[in-house]
Amino acid sequence: METVACNLCGSAEHSVVYEMPDARFFREEFFKIVECKRCGLGFVNPRPTTAEIQKYYPAMYYQGPPTESHELYLNRRFSAEASCLKPLENGEGRRRLLDVGCANGNFPRFMAARGWEVEGVEISQASQPIKDFRVFMEEFDKIQFGERKYDAVTAWAVLEHVHDPMAYFRKAAQVVKKGGLFVFLVTNFESAASRHLFCEDVPRHLYFFTRETVKQYLDKTGFALEQEDNGRKVHKMAPNNWLGFMVRTRLLGKKYEFRDVPMTSKEFRAKYNLRPGLMTSLKYAAYSPTMVVDRMLWPVIETAQILRKTYGISTYVARRLP
Ligand SMILES: [Zn+2]
Repeated sequence: METVACNLCGSAEHSVVYEMPDARFFREEFFKIVECKRCGLGFVNPRPTTAEIQKYYPAMYYQGPPTESHELYLNRRFSAEASCLKPLENGEGRRRLLDVGCANGNFPRFMAARGWEVEGVEISQASQPIKDFRVFMEEFDKIQFGERKYDAVTAWAVLEHVHDPMAYFRKAAQVVKKGGLFVFLVTNFESAASRHLFCEDVPRHLYFFTRETVKQYLDKTGFALEQEDNGRKVHKMAPNNWLGFMVRTRLLGKKYEFRDVPMTSKEFRAKYNLRPGLMTSLKYAAYSPTMVVDRMLWPVIETAQILRKTYGISTYVARRLP
């Protein structure tokens, strides 16, 4: 483990916002999420080093369900992602895209079908080999691009995973043509899901951004923020147990900690070895009535959050300054 200063402003002063374990793979290992006192950046500190982080990405992390509904979901997601690049599609000639964290290459392939020349960056060995376009298999900030430039660089749910986001912003500024776009999606540290409800995927997520901290990164690296889309079109981050959190903190005046998060219905079934069905649903409702009401309220809560720009996910479109 290593203790780090703020990646955005260099300050070593921060306060602890919450503690939570790796809820997916190592439930006994707890991590502190801190917030920089000077600039507001959120990050895991202390954190696993670049060597130690490997263990938190087991092979099963990369396994997606190859079903038909998954394909439909991917197509909807890629369309939403592609809409951010529309402003560049009107001009003459072919546009060049670099997709950082391209996984199996499906998003660049989607863009190639729209007439883009595409390349990708992917460091995970678990991804399938890509043969139909060039893929750099190195950390983005370490790649020697020479004179290579792109009309757009995209990074979908990448920056929250890396050890040095500033190096990624700097590299993007080097390789995006002047007037080109850097488009990226990150979780939103201003959302209840990220800040209070323990929905972050710690310690795979190491950094937690807000509109303000994103703007500061862009200012320091030569980009101007052009558009922010706060919402669930590309990725979702449901405000899980928002009601339970409100009841506990607002009505009862108590702290809400990780151990106060109720089991999901799936975890509940696994723990008591129950099969899905009416009796199991009733047992779960008796175990956590707020969770059941909470699920019914999600559409309303999420809509309110999106309107107030406090939903858990934000996509940013930034323009490289001339
Ligand atoms: Zn800072």
